[in-house]
Amino acid sequence: MGYVVAGEAGAGPLGELVRELRASLERAGFDAAGEDAAPELVVNVVDPERPKPFRRRSRGTFVAALHVVDAPPPDPLLEGYPMLVRALANVSLTFVPGQGVWFTTLERGSYLVPASDGAGALADAVVARLAPLARSRLVIGNEFVTDLEPELWDGDEMTRSISEAGRRLDDLGLLPAPFPVEELVSERDLRHIKRLYGIGGLSYGNLSARKDETRFWMSASGVDKSKLDAPGRDILLVSGYDPERLTIVLSVPPGIEPRRVSVDAIEHWKIYREHPDVGAILHVHAWLEGIAATEVNFPCGTEELAENVAQLLAAEPDPGHAIIGLRNHGITATGASLDEILDRIAPRLLRQVPMT
Ligand SMILES: [Zn+2]
Repeated sequence: MGYVVAGEAGAGPLGELVRELRASLERAGFDAAGEDAAPELVVNVVDPERPKPFRRRSRGTFVAALHVVDAPPPDPLLEGYPMLVRALANVSLTFVPGQGVWFTTLERGSYLVPASDGAGALADAVVARLAPLARSRLVIGNEFVTDLEPELWDGDEMTRSISEAGRRLDDLGLLPAPFPVEELVSERDLRHIKRLYGIGGLSYGNLSARKDETRFWMSASGVDKSKLDAPGRDILLVSGYDPERLTIVLSVPPGIEPRRVSVDAIEHWKIYREHPDVGAILHVHAWLEGIAATEVNFPCGTEELAENVAQLLAAEPDPGHAIIGLRNHGITATGASLDEILDRIAPRLLRQVPMT
């Protein structure tokens, strides 16, 4: 595993933290690499006034944008999220000397790694959170095959159940407004962000419903979930997964410009495969008391997140009707149908995801 520190940390507390981060990364098995070597991890030290993105050569490069602020930010998410977007990073690290390092994720998670006994201990705690993320693998390739049966071109009762559930989510206030990325970055950078993360835009949550033994319908990425309509555009039929190429295969009708499927397709794919009694899956950024949850905050769309959720689900007494927490992120719920899931979870839903 290679790492690079880009940007200027200067002297002072930030410089000291960066020195300790290097030492800690090397203890964790990362080697200093050249910027041209497509390192697995980049710590990009940015100037909050003018954050300079690190231009990745490979999607496999995980970039943490690090900046320092003088005082604890009133809203760490509002401090870190624009930095994540403007620096085209996978995670944003806001260093508050004396307080610790705030992590902000693409899923709008925001949690503090507190300062304890000096910069060395803080660096170790940061690296312990960062290293698994840098090692995770994104499954975001999409292959569109125009082999959708003509009788499905206008959808079926399953796609209609997805549209209906999207409207219910909206009524329940579970569809946060997409983050206004276009206000923070240029059109060129926005295209770059979409390519990097394999997303259609920064929207949150997804829904899917089983079509048959091997296939399921799923919402597209970056679309308004309250207006899911056209099959092949807003709702896609997932018909395969190619682990060699880390690519999801989608059956679409001819003559349309298909949108990308939600990045969580790999997670749903695993769940439908392993649990034939699961009829539908819902993912929202909300929480419920007392649920089993993942330990590591893996990013959306990674093999590792999918595997973690699938394992926790398999350990549930009834995997066909279960709710799994995704740490600092949201929940994935299974059920017979989307309506059944919503009926079951709506009364107990907490809008605020605990951040730990
Ligand atoms: Zn999510």
